[in-house]
Amino acid sequence: MRASQLFMPTLKETPAEAELVSHQLLLRGGFIRRLASGLYTWLPLGLRVLRKVERIVREEMDRCGAQEVLMPVVQPAELWQESGRWEQYGPELLRIHDRHDREFCLGPTHEEVVTDLLRREIHSYRQLPINVYQIQTKFRDEIRPRFGLMRGREFVMKDAYSFHLEAASLESTYEAMFAAYTRIFTRLGLDFRAVEADTGAIGGKRSHEFHVLADSGEDAIVFCHHCDYAANLELAQSRLPDEAPEAPLPAEQVPTPGIRSVAAQAEMLKISTARIVKTVLVMADEKPVLLLLRGDDELNLVKATNALAAKSLRLASQEETEEACGVPVGFIGPKDLPRDLPILADHHALTVQNFSTGANVADLHWINLHWGRDLPLAAAADLRSVRAGEPCPRCASGTLGIRRGIEVGHVFQLGERYSKAMNMTVLDETGRDRTVTTGCYGIGVSRVVAAAVEQHFDDRGILWPRALAPFTVGIVAINGRKSPDVAAAAELLHNQLEAAGYAVLLDDRDERPGVQFATMDLIGLPHRVVVSDKVLAQGVFEYRDRRGTDNVHLSYEELLTQLK
Ligand code: ATP
Ligand code: MG
Ligand code: MG
Ligand code: MG
Repeated sequence: MRASQLFMPTLKETPAEAELVSHQLLLRGGFIRRLASGLYTWLPLGLRVLRKVERIVREEMDRCGAQEVLMPVVQPAELWQESGRWEQYGPELLRIHDRHDREFCLGPTHEEVVTDLLRREIHSYRQLPINVYQIQTKFRDEIRPRFGLMRGREFVMKDAYSFHLEAASLESTYEAMFAAYTRIFTRLGLDFRAVEADTGAIGGKRSHEFHVLADSGEDAIVFCHHCDYAANLELAQSRLPDEAPEAPLPAEQVPTPGIRSVAAQAEMLKISTARIVKTVLVMADEKPVLLLLRGDDELNLVKATNALAAKSLRLASQEETEEACGVPVGFIGPKDLPRDLPILADHHALTVQNFSTGANVADLHWINLHWGRDLPLAAAADLRSVRAGEPCPRCASGTLGIRRGIEVGHVFQLGERYSKAMNMTVLDETGRDRTVTTGCYGIGVSRVVAAAVEQHFDDRGILWPRALAPFTVGIVAINGRKSPDVAAAAELLHNQLEAAGYAVLLDDRDERPGVQFATMDLIGLPHRVVVSDKVLAQGVFEYRDRRGTDNVHLSYEELLTQLK
């Protein structure tokens, strides 16, 4: 490919709207362009990177027995009503009408559609297990789309769904997918960690997230230096060392002290109860405060508690909750959970309640409260005390470290969450109808592109891991428009390397060398070869690794060895 013919609109200045390095560099390097909030066009260079991610994902999915399908983006409301998520999902679900005034939504995920597909086609245990996947555009009307590809409204996801008769079969597919994810992120050249995760709004049993480690990550993950313990601690963010203070919440979102019903609290905070996933009672300056936590947006515990500006803050104990609420602390299941959950009424009150899974706080030991989930209650009791360096809750001999992560993948054991609601059964060996058990597995394909940049850049631009680079080799023809020798040699090298199987970008533009070098550095190709009258006179090529600073003179054969 010749740069003179490539639609690669690079920018000298950093666009003001771009906060994150990946957003800045992807705009500046001419990889993407913004259409509207959270909506981006992939330019040729960016699309090449996206396709590389897709290819690796596809290869590893196929390799572990998943079969590719492609489902519609537009989904009928009826399916979401059947699963109960038409009500539950909240404003992230973009709802639309067709000309007959029928309701549809743009798919943020495909559990309903795939369950509907398979319940029509799969009737016998003999047809199980089955694992289908797609690489497809998703739409989520994110409350705050930001950081370019990182949190778009329209984005590309790989989503897979597996169906089983028995839990053991689900477990083994889950393990296989976990292994495939490990291979995918390793092949992509990313420094990542798999962490235990909350099953959150989707509901379900076992779940792991894959995080690319980067200081700009929105999530905080905690891990043990000694054993394999690693968990997502979204709520630990504000306790990371040296972090700038969080911006204050808008006044209407500041939690109000005092115990009241969830509905009353939600009304005061001007948020919809449909979006509340959890509640938690904390003691702020020894006064009880009910916090409402929404699925995955900003009103998380840390921001809310920061906004309280209390001098002391901790989770309320069971006794305190009982005293504040005047009722025993207990458990309310998801089915019988009324929207307007009166924490003071005759239901058993709760300190922490997962609205979607109905997790029982007593059983789970705070397990569904992100922060402190797997930590002993004692450690979680003082929200401000948990820091890196604490003893590991699993092995006790190691200490905890905290790093920032970008969630790029998520695997879930859903169990019967959708198959039950949507009545997907098969006949088992004895001819009985049995509800199937399922898993789902996502990768943020477009987010991976941004996450890779967050992890691999320097002050001159992107340092693409080789597996992701839009081209492997960049050839800079110095003064090629004036020197026929340079033009011919650069052209020949380009053709030879392409024939040898490398993706090559030849900078044949009529630009000053400084501009050409800056462009190559900005777009981050792993290898740069300079062809100039000077080096041609010496019968060599001038080579530089994008991560290095030294130029070396190489013959063609030496160059080939270098590129391998
Ligand atoms: P997040 O916590 O970042 O909002 P999520 O947990 O809501 O993500 P999942 O439902 O687990 O996302 O979807 C699977 C994957 O899709 C995520 O692991 C992430 O990599 C990607 N993803 C989710 N939302 C977005 C988005 N708005 N833009 C880009 N990628 C996204
Ligand atoms: Mg998440
Ligand atoms: Mg989300
Ligand atoms: Mg997730």
